[in-house]
Amino acid sequence: MKRTLLFLIGLTFSAFAFAQQVDQGRDLSKYADDKFSEDDKYTVAEPYATVSVKQPKSKKIKNVIFLIGDGMGLEQVSVAWTLNGGHLNLDNFPVAGLSRTYCTDELVTDSCAGGTALSSGVKTKYGYIGQDADGNPCFTLLHRAQQKGMKTGVAVTCRINDATPADFICASPDRHLEAEVAAKLADSGVDFISGGGRQFWDEREDGRNLIEEMKAKGYTFVDNDADLRNASGERLLGLYGPLDLDPVLDRGSILEDSAMKAIEMLDNKKGFFLMIEGSQIDDWCHRNKVGYMAEEFFDFDKTIGKVLEWAEKDGHTLVIVTADHATGGLTLIDGSLEDRSVSVHFSTKGHNGIMVPVFAYGPHAEEFVGVYENSELSDKIRRLMK
Ligand SMILES: [Zn+2]
Repeated sequence: MKRTLLFLIGLTFSAFAFAQQVDQGRDLSKYADDKFSEDDKYTVAEPYATVSVKQPKSKKIKNVIFLIGDGMGLEQVSVAWTLNGGHLNLDNFPVAGLSRTYCTDELVTDSCAGGTALSSGVKTKYGYIGQDADGNPCFTLLHRAQQKGMKTGVAVTCRINDATPADFICASPDRHLEAEVAAKLADSGVDFISGGGRQFWDEREDGRNLIEEMKAKGYTFVDNDADLRNASGERLLGLYGPLDLDPVLDRGSILEDSAMKAIEMLDNKKGFFLMIEGSQIDDWCHRNKVGYMAEEFFDFDKTIGKVLEWAEKDGHTLVIVTADHATGGLTLIDGSLEDRSVSVHFSTKGHNGIMVPVFAYGPHAEEFVGVYENSELSDKIRRLMK
């Protein structure tokens, strides 16, 4: 009896700890809860237009654009596809694969370990950013690009020092060491950095003002979408809010604008590596709100459309879209393509362990067909970058 009671207390504590973990460090006041009346149903009045592109003939890869939908499993793709009346920019990809996301110590991974496998080809421990299970820093695809003299960039809608962007740039044993990670990003030499989290750059306990340091190094600094669109130069730091950016209905097209400005600034003779993240698909699945999730997905898919149009013109750009893991245990249980409506069920407020899709476009896209580990996906890209 006593043992059962202790077990129950333990269970309650771990459930509490888990709930805490899910929203670790996020500013929840940003997330208005009242825009859509129901959390598990959504209807889209007007679908958006999608692009149509052809696979290029070239076999030469000059640029790599790696797009990550945080928390974007196949169900999220199917829900968004239904809500947009049976069309997504993702439909253009000629090749699809499936990636297994588990990490070294958990079957169901997080963005830290999931992103590290994608950035570095190394499966690691839950919570580890850019370092292997023994704590050694990883050599990422972005580092490889820098070594080859390519330009590099990251553009996200969360704080820029959050797990996924940080996984590509630096190493940390703990995602809560945010000021430390921001300093590492500032010292990384990455040419284009765009996202949230300004408070870790200019309100620091160590007295450093990383924004001023970046300006002194020749970076253009912007803090809003209009200035981002008008920015010129070769290097840019964009920080659009103290923490994560507002939901897409409030922040507008900043992800798409960041992606296109990054391409404009990074495109050069030696090529570039650009990571773009639809960061908040995950956040809304954690909160089990399908309408907000769908709008974040549309924002990500519209960005993919713009990237594909540019890649088609360029002809030498490999475009990969995948996820670090799925979130929410989302299930599409009913809906209508005609009415652009869905009815869904969420089975968890955490992540879930299903395989996630990989979409490939451009030279050597065919090498991404099949079922493989998330770490192997990164290895494939690295081999193609040579
Ligand atoms: Zn998450």
